[in-house]
Amino acid sequence: MTAPAPTERVLATLNADGSRRWIRPKLSKGKLWQRRRSVAFGLMVLFLAIPHFRLNGKPLMLLDLPRREFTLFGTTFLPTDTLLLMLLGISLLIGIFLLTALYGRVWCGWACPQTVYMEFLFRPIERWLEGGWGGSRQMDKQRQHFHPRRLAKYAIYAVLAAILGNTFLAYFVGTDALQHWMLSSPYEEPVPFVAMAVVTLMVFLDFTWFREQTCLVACPYGRWQAVLLDKQSLIVAYDPARGEPRRAPKKGLPIAGASAGDCVDCNACVNTCPTGIDIRDGLQMECIHCTQCADACDTVMRKVGKPEGLVRYTSKEALEGHIRHFIRPRTVLYPLAFALFFGGFIYALETKSKADVTILGAIGQPFSREPDGSVVNQVRVKIANRSNGVRRYTVELLDADDAKLIAPELPLTLTNGKNAATSLFIIMPESAFHNGTHRMTLRVTDDAGFSQLIPWRLRGPDEHERESREHK
Ligand code: SF4
Ligand code: SF4
Repeated sequence: MTAPAPTERVLATLNADGSRRWIRPKLSKGKLWQRRRSVAFGLMVLFLAIPHFRLNGKPLMLLDLPRREFTLFGTTFLPTDTLLLMLLGISLLIGIFLLTALYGRVWCGWACPQTVYMEFLFRPIERWLEGGWGGSRQMDKQRQHFHPRRLAKYAIYAVLAAILGNTFLAYFVGTDALQHWMLSSPYEEPVPFVAMAVVTLMVFLDFTWFREQTCLVACPYGRWQAVLLDKQSLIVAYDPARGEPRRAPKKGLPIAGASAGDCVDCNACVNTCPTGIDIRDGLQMECIHCTQCADACDTVMRKVGKPEGLVRYTSKEALEGHIRHFIRPRTVLYPLAFALFFGGFIYALETKSKADVTILGAIGQPFSREPDGSVVNQVRVKIANRSNGVRRYTVELLDADDAKLIAPELPLTLTNGKNAATSLFIIMPESAFHNGTHRMTLRVTDDAGFSQLIPWRLRGPDEHERESREHK
């Protein structure tokens, strides 16, 4: 039984019976495509290189989720850096809002890894092996899913997926760990092996099967465009005032009559669209602003002797014949908010302590005694190096002239981002304690000028205990 025909327009990626319509866009090599290709190759190199770059001895970017430590441009943010991360996160969000308000979905069309890899790596391989636009469509039509050329494409995709998937993993585990995983047998490192296999499979399925659905279904950014764009934002759009009414070209006849618009209804803009939509239907959530329709239409316009730009970068306001205003409430408020939050982030980053110091008392017995009766307090000092270099930490006692400090592990040398704990033994005469305590100050310093004073209360015998000890 055949499915009833839909009464309304169906999604561009669906057939009338509800099955998936595979999008095989025809490449349009225009000037925008050439620029996008240069940007895309640069971004691909950058994506592959970033995990290998180091700054201040740290990876340029490492998102260590299990330890909740994020290293960005040589600075490590610890789980305790909530304020810093919040300020950075809000700044990024406002930055995205501003970019979208000004330039629309420029990120989607020019810089998103999904678009970059799909359109400038995976799709060219497909066109090359399957015989271009016509070849792929023919294979789809004849259901040649296991055609040798298509199988060869999948084999190359699998290799690329492994490279990209492992590079992606390097952002989360670092290149050293990744190299170790790759050189270990799956029996030695089963969990990393599964992680690498799963990420590779996800990348493979994304670029082989899911494709444009990532932009249409999985990514929330397209849905935000309704609120993030305004009538002045830059969009890729068809100019209906110039294009309508459409007129199909007829052999031997003028392209269009006096009343005809410039659109010759050739469908070149539709055939080239990677999400399968028709730009002439207006701004749509599916449009990733890849500019392929603009390149396709410019080629057609040149052929029919009309000016380029029937499909172009413009704004809704400009399409309605008004001047596009750069300055408007959101392009003033977003930069102000960005300056506020990002300025706050930079200030908090610059003024944050260069080390986190935590002092802990001994577990169990509060103090012990030396054979001569002096009182020994054990103190644990935990130091996290938050600076950008290697530091040597030491601890001194203040307000305690008659105290003796034994610290076998000091000075403590820590590389940036690392932390360690060490034990101190503070020995004081029994007479220094009043009501069982002695207040003093610990000073933790490093070899680069860091200094932190920490008040501390030593525990010792109280007067009652001392008297009973003297009467024994
Ligand atoms: S409508 Fe044009 S700009 Fe939008 S996704 Fe399709 S080809 Fe790209
Ligand atoms: S490519 Fe240009 S002329 Fe052809 S259908 Fe699209 S808008 Fe019309």
